[in-house]
Amino acid sequence: MADKRDYYEVLGLQKGATEDEIKKAYRRVAKECHPDLHPGDKAAEARFKEANEAYGVLSDPEKKSKYDQFGFAGVDPNFSAGGFNGDFGDLGDIFGDIFGGFGGFGGFGGQTRQAGRSAPRRGESLRVRLTISFEEAAFGCKKDVNITRVDQCPDCKGTGCAPGTAPETCPDCRGTGSVTTQRRTPFGIMQSSGPCPKCGGAGKIVHSPCPTCRGSGSIRAQRKLNVSIPAGIDDGETVSLRGQGNAGANGGPAGDLLVLIQVRPSPTFQREGANLYVTTSLSFVQAALGTEIQVPTLEGPVSLNIPEGTQTGSVFRLRGKGVPNVRTGLKGDQFVTVNLQTPKNLNRRQKELLQELADLSGEKVKKRRKL
Ligand SMILES: [Zn+2]
Ligand SMILES: [Zn+2]
Repeated sequence: MADKRDYYEVLGLQKGATEDEIKKAYRRVAKECHPDLHPGDKAAEARFKEANEAYGVLSDPEKKSKYDQFGFAGVDPNFSAGGFNGDFGDLGDIFGDIFGGFGGFGGFGGQTRQAGRSAPRRGESLRVRLTISFEEAAFGCKKDVNITRVDQCPDCKGTGCAPGTAPETCPDCRGTGSVTTQRRTPFGIMQSSGPCPKCGGAGKIVHSPCPTCRGSGSIRAQRKLNVSIPAGIDDGETVSLRGQGNAGANGGPAGDLLVLIQVRPSPTFQREGANLYVTTSLSFVQAALGTEIQVPTLEGPVSLNIPEGTQTGSVFRLRGKGVPNVRTGLKGDQFVTVNLQTPKNLNRRQKELLQELADLSGEKVKKRRKL
């Protein structure tokens, strides 16, 4: 107890502060150090507990007067740090308006959950897979995808009311979706908020539901969407269609449609990022003497000059014959690997010539029997 800070000091107040000043000071401190705003910050959490404790006493006229007279000794001995530990829901009435301005923090007591019932909510995003060919990925394409999604009901425009009728604002909660109840706690009577039982937290009551959506305001619908796939997209990448997911609730925006692209492999090309790889064969004579060959590219065959003395496994680069980078549009290169092939099934004349070549080079070869 010795190192406990004075309750007024904790809230930055002078002794004799009014009820209103205490409430305001507490809101300010609690807002500064609420654990939801400082996840994992032990100092903030300790300050928050300290502020809760101070407010618990100073907001209760009876405890306050005892504290004013007798200090810590005047207040409930059970009322020590941690008395409020984790039970933030009891402070719902105070935090309702603090957190209202933050647009809804998750995980805070019942307050944000229940405010979310009548607050605008974004629709869920949907995911769909789409398989395209290697060339479609390289050049880009347009594809139809069929999805089932939640759309706003076209007949009631999402209100859930039959045409010509309107929802009634709930008289119990006056449209807020929440009601305040009083509760006895160790600190006296505390107010707390919960979802309105009359309207289930929606804030409005529908008397004659829309027959199309049975009052839900939304329908499940089959949709065919034309998706533009950018040139250069790669296997496993995603195309997002903003606002094409499920409809939002209470006027919130729709979610997105995420199209996961699967690219069928090519029998000709291997792809790594923006670069393409192909392998081609040459006879050792072509490689020895040099030649010009045709190699496949995405834009059709092109000539490639093979210089004399080319070794097996040599790689040639065709600049700009790769795939465009999906973001920059800059094209990669195509790499051509040549594999030399040993001639088979030679006729007599060919064998004689090779024998002669071996003799000239002084190379030892298997002696052929004279025909
Ligand atoms: Zn409807
Ligand atoms: Zn209500």
